[in-house]
Amino acid sequence: MITKEFTAFQNKVWLSSPTMHGDELKYMTEAFETNWMSTVGKNINEVEQMAAEKIGRKYAVALSSGTAALHLAMKLAGIKQGDKVFCSDMTFDATVNPVVYEGGVPVFVDTEYDTWNMDPVALEKAFEIYPDVKVVIVAHLYGTPGKIDEIKAICDKHSAVIVEDAAESFGATYKGKQTGTFGNFSIISYNGNKVVTGSSGGMLLTDDLEVANKVRKWSTQSRENAPWYQHEEIGYNYRMSNVIAGVVRGQLPYLEEHIAQKKAIYERYREGFKDLPVKMNPLNTEGVANYWLSCLIIDEDAMCKQVRSENEALYIAEHGKSCSTEILETLAKYNAEGRPIWKPMHMQPIYRMNGFVTREGNGRCKNNAYISGGTVGVDGLPLDVGMDIFERGLCLPSDNKMTANEQDKVIEIIWACFE
Ligand SMILES: *Cc1c(COP(=O)(O)O)cnc(C)c1O
Repeated sequence: MITKEFTAFQNKVWLSSPTMHGDELKYMTEAFETNWMSTVGKNINEVEQMAAEKIGRKYAVALSSGTAALHLAMKLAGIKQGDKVFCSDMTFDATVNPVVYEGGVPVFVDTEYDTWNMDPVALEKAFEIYPDVKVVIVAHLYGTPGKIDEIKAICDKHSAVIVEDAAESFGATYKGKQTGTFGNFSIISYNGNKVVTGSSGGMLLTDDLEVANKVRKWSTQSRENAPWYQHEEIGYNYRMSNVIAGVVRGQLPYLEEHIAQKKAIYERYREGFKDLPVKMNPLNTEGVANYWLSCLIIDEDAMCKQVRSENEALYIAEHGKSCSTEILETLAKYNAEGRPIWKPMHMQPIYRMNGFVTREGNGRCKNNAYISGGTVGVDGLPLDVGMDIFERGLCLPSDNKMTANEQDKVIEIIWACFE
């Protein structure tokens, strides 16, 4: 319960804002001065090579956004009207919407506590309930790689294709390999708040030249080889601009530096919170995160009462306890930006009728009511893990440019919420 008063931050402390270095402008200017103000040009060629090399895939195709890359990945995965597709549940809706663009029907697979990513046990359950599913979409949340080996083994067993959403985890590794190498089709994003940015943009990653060429063709309106505009397939205007590619080109050399800054932020929070009844978001012991966002989760018995409707939150302040709403509101009051955990897709009004599978099976009752976060599985843990993390967790200000002093004050403010 907050009783202490602080002075507000003079400059807003952001969740995660772009961090520019100067070369971005140089390459943008180069595009301008050579008049390659288009979706063709040197910056595009360069960033495709640089990213493919960094990640360790043969081809990276530069596109207008991570969402565009996911959409083309759904087409490559062969999703057809009415096909059910298993999807990460606790994620940004950009992971899932492209399934619907192709007429597919997302079925959500619950989250596990170890990495906050898709639960392999729930995925196995999902295949028991829906044995015909052939595509699985997996995101690595907040830069922590998921349980890739387990998920891959299950997908192989069921001959399912993996679309890997590494939008948040660029630069993170699992067993020494970069995220973005594990999907049949993988994507990254250069959205403004990601670990490196083009202001917007994304890439599709593949080892197959034919696939790369298909994506290039689809993303430029599917023009056939002919003297006129000839079309045999539906096309899209999804190619990255050479100006945006200039920004990406300037940013890519700073990926590791940004990750080191994000890691230092994570570790400072972990140290600062070690005597509070909270935990940091998990890392995967089999890999190295990129620490994109630092998050915390409040111990169950340190949660004050909190209710969330579809668009409002209320809480009752209590001595010695706090909740995500109180912390987020208090941070905002002092000009610092936190964010709730991604609200799970199965809780979203738009996906309310879709399937949802927890580690014990079907997570929806027959009448489609929720098995609520209060429902406990045989192991004594909440059955709906995503809902539980959403309820007790939050994302902390994780901006590269946040100073140690600013971060210490963020930590103090959060301490005060628990007084
Ligand atoms: C940012 C993000 C995307 C989408 O990327 P855009 O480039 O913004 O379209 C997809 N999935 C996840 C998990 C993301 O965080």
